[in-house]
Amino acid sequence: MTAAPPDVRQLLADAATRLPGVEGRHEAELLLLHVLERERSWLFAHATDPVEPVQVAAFEALLAKRLAGEPVAYLLGRRGFWTLDLEVSPATLIPRPETELLVELALARSPEDAALRVADLGTGSGAIALALASERPQAQVVATDLSEAALAVAARNAQRHALGNVRFRQGAWYAPLAGERFDLIATNPPYIASDDPHLAQGDLRFEPPTALASGQDGLDDIRLIIHGAAAHLRPGGWLLIEHGWDQGDAIRALLQQAGFQSVATERDLEQRDRVSLG
Ligand code: GLN
Repeated sequence: MTAAPPDVRQLLADAATRLPGVEGRHEAELLLLHVLERERSWLFAHATDPVEPVQVAAFEALLAKRLAGEPVAYLLGRRGFWTLDLEVSPATLIPRPETELLVELALARSPEDAALRVADLGTGSGAIALALASERPQAQVVATDLSEAALAVAARNAQRHALGNVRFRQGAWYAPLAGERFDLIATNPPYIASDDPHLAQGDLRFEPPTALASGQDGLDDIRLIIHGAAAHLRPGGWLLIEHGWDQGDAIRALLQQAGFQSVATERDLEQRDRVSLG
């Protein structure tokens, strides 16, 4: 006797009980819609559609990976950031909503019609560079990353969104920017202490360690970025750095020591220090 194939509603209800947390139902929907190649609006009229065994199997395989901890963004191969749908891969950090604060602060310092030169250091999937390029079509944006694999993802994201005002270069921090100056330098560098137990938990386990950890106090890369900035900023230019909730004091001190003015730290939606600038 063969059981009737499950329908969409049954599959989702069953998956939602297996995935932990309040996100379970939402994640189950995202994974099933990915397998079925449908948009969310399709669900409402199709809850009682039967699902083909091969698609059930594909959905179960994704669920198993999710239950083993793999981030949903990697399973889908995409993540929304700012107004952009971005490709992501395990070669790139998954863009976080907190980083949209950095984009907002950068835009507030980027006049609309100026031919600004902007740099994004350690661009990963291209999130910051592409958000800024999309909002400031007149700007010339240069995005760097150490990882060739990440840059390939970022370049596809630029192409997908037809953002021709972004150039990608491979290398560490300022290495690919010798002799160049910018009106604005933005970066979401690694900033977690290398012995932080969070690195062995949750999504972070699956993300590139080089995008997350940075020495004993998490500030090794930020120190390099601050020290190198003077040679790459135009007069009056801005450096904006994302960092951890407990690093604001240390980073403002580093910025001041390096001669920056108008040094400040801004808080994210959770009221935690998140971006420092000068
Ligand atoms: N915001 C990330 C986290 O703590 C870390 C990103 C980073 O190191 N740049 O989950």
